Amino acid sequence: MPAKKKLPVKKTKASAPKKTASKPKGKSEINNKTGSWRESFHWGVANKPLDHSNETHVDFFSKALNAGHGELDSGDSAVQLKVKSKLSARHLGDLRKICGDENISVGDFERVKHSYGKYYEELVEQRTGKIEHIVDAVAYPADEDQILKILQYCQKNRIAVTPYGAGSSVTKALRTPRGGLSLDLSRHFHRILSFSKQNSSVTCEAGVLGPALEEFLNRQGFTCGHFPQSFEFSTVGGWAAARGAGQASTGYGRMEEMVLGMTVITPKGKLEFVEIPASAVGPDLKRLFIGSEGTLGVITRITMRVSRYNPKNTRYLSFLFKDFESSVAAMRNIMQAQIGKPHVFRISDGEETDVAFKMKNKDKGLTGKILKALGYAAGERCLMYATVEGNRDYTAFVASQMKKIARKSGGLPTGSYPVKKWLEQRYSSAYVRDPLMDAGVRIDTLETAVRWDNLMRVWENTRAYIKSFENTFCLVHISHVYETGANLYFVFASRMTDSAAKKELSEFAKLHRGIVETIIESGGTLSHHHGIGRLTSPYLEKAMGKEAFTLLKDIKKSIDVAGILNPGALNL
Ligand SMILES: Cc1cc2nc3c(=O)[nH]c(=O)nc-3n(C[C@H](O)[C@H](O)[C@H](O)COP(=O)(O)OP(=O)(O)OC[C@H]3O[C@@H](n4cnc5c(N)ncnc54)[C@H](O)[C@@H]3O)c2cc1C
Repeated sequence: MPAKKKLPVKKTKASAPKKTASKPKGKSEINNKTGSWRESFHWGVANKPLDHSNETHVDFFSKALNAGHGELDSGDSAVQLKVKSKLSARHLGDLRKICGDENISVGDFERVKHSYGKYYEELVEQRTGKIEHIVDAVAYPADEDQILKILQYCQKNRIAVTPYGAGSSVTKALRTPRGGLSLDLSRHFHRILSFSKQNSSVTCEAGVLGPALEEFLNRQGFTCGHFPQSFEFSTVGGWAAARGAGQASTGYGRMEEMVLGMTVITPKGKLEFVEIPASAVGPDLKRLFIGSEGTLGVITRITMRVSRYNPKNTRYLSFLFKDFESSVAAMRNIMQAQIGKPHVFRISDGEETDVAFKMKNKDKGLTGKILKALGYAAGERCLMYATVEGNRDYTAFVASQMKKIARKSGGLPTGSYPVKKWLEQRYSSAYVRDPLMDAGVRIDTLETAVRWDNLMRVWENTRAYIKSFENTFCLVHISHVYETGANLYFVFASRMTDSAAKKELSEFAKLHRGIVETIIESGGTLSHHHGIGRLTSPYLEKAMGKEAFTLLKDIKKSIDVAGILNPGALNL
């Protein structure tokens, strides 16, 4: 991570967007020249001590699953590759001429780091050093002109190019079978370029990481409103390229709704989509690039809608419901009541609520007895929690209306503590996966979106499939809510096989495939916010429809004639 620095921006009342060029930061940790396998696959800051909550998680799951210890290598040895870069000396020399020697790397560690995201299989592969697909070099272009030259050079020489933000993809979007060049924007594209209070918008380069953007905006009295769980280690360009949704998307909207303007470099040239609040000038072509996952161009700049930041007005609410169905009914009623909207809005299903209660010992003593007596039985009861943000009168109104509706469906108000606790841990919880894997626990997630009329069916069928595997946890939550439906997010955890990584990977792949197919057969979408990458790409044509997919392929061919941009992602 680049060191956090204050950006040299003064508050002004300027009516025109203010130029706010910030100083380039040092090389980020993710671009280190050497490092261990662990430094490549781990989440966030290497060797950060676990907080108490994560320690409790590791202890709880490894005991409950009777997991062994250290079935996979801890990955502490230095990365050393047997496979050398396949790019010829001539190609490397030409690329160095474009970007400068210091901005092209063929170092083993950097190549590994840029060839993987954070999908379970990718973590296992790195722990075992069984590398199948690897980029041949990493380029850190310094400006848009260099990116255009690289794309045109690679087009001419049929070298694959995969744009790279911070590598937090969970869909194998960076697993490029053709090798080639990883094009990393984190080193030189991390400036916040302008901010307009009047227009409520900010323009930044695509490699800006979440905290740098949010800290800058908070100082102006604004917030970006986009907080994926990967917020600390993902980029604005990656948010748009993967068409993501942050944890407060119910109130602030999805990334595609936030992007007002954008610059994209394609092998054919530079596309400028200027900032405009709304437009009817033909189809909105910038949307083509939101969700394109590096297959159509390199996003270099984004102008985002931002919102006023008034944390002191935020209302924190939580309720306990007797079962999932009644909590979902209350959630739907809240979203459709035209009372305004919460920002974070979540329900943990019975199993997820149960695990949370067990880990916090909430089931013991008087609380447990009272809840049981009131009919909030363990395993069935579900926790709903929410924040409402904005103007003080607005948040007070929405919160009071939400309480009324929740109570009508049997919601028992449980105060602000659960949601405040969750907010406290929402980024640090991403650190729990590596130590869980160290302890022999297999853990991954899949997510979808559904209409209200189909939500219970998708939840029941997918849960039933996951639970058909012996001794497997299936924790489900809803975390992005619309008037017309919501997402479903499945976390599944079981004991790793004792045997070699190969068997672990094949067993995991079987489980994973079955979950995806159950979601599709039950009517859920292939992804609500993680994107497609290479993970669910074989299902994409069916999901989009043959004609629509053919159109997408035609668009790809016309922009990327030689098929060099992230080949294979989105099945393109
Ligand atoms: C612990 C964890 C939690 C997560 N939580 C969320 C969540 O709450 N919400 C959510 O939406 N996602 C979430 N994700 C998924 C992931 O963080 C997002 O997809 C994120 O937007 C990826 O950003 P990145 O900068 O890391 O991109 P990368 O992983 O580097 O790249 C992702 C894809 O985008 C392309 N790409 C990246 N930058 C550019 C660019 N400038 N131009 C063109 N293409 C580009 C890449 O080629 C690749 O196909 C989570 C992931 C993890 C590991």
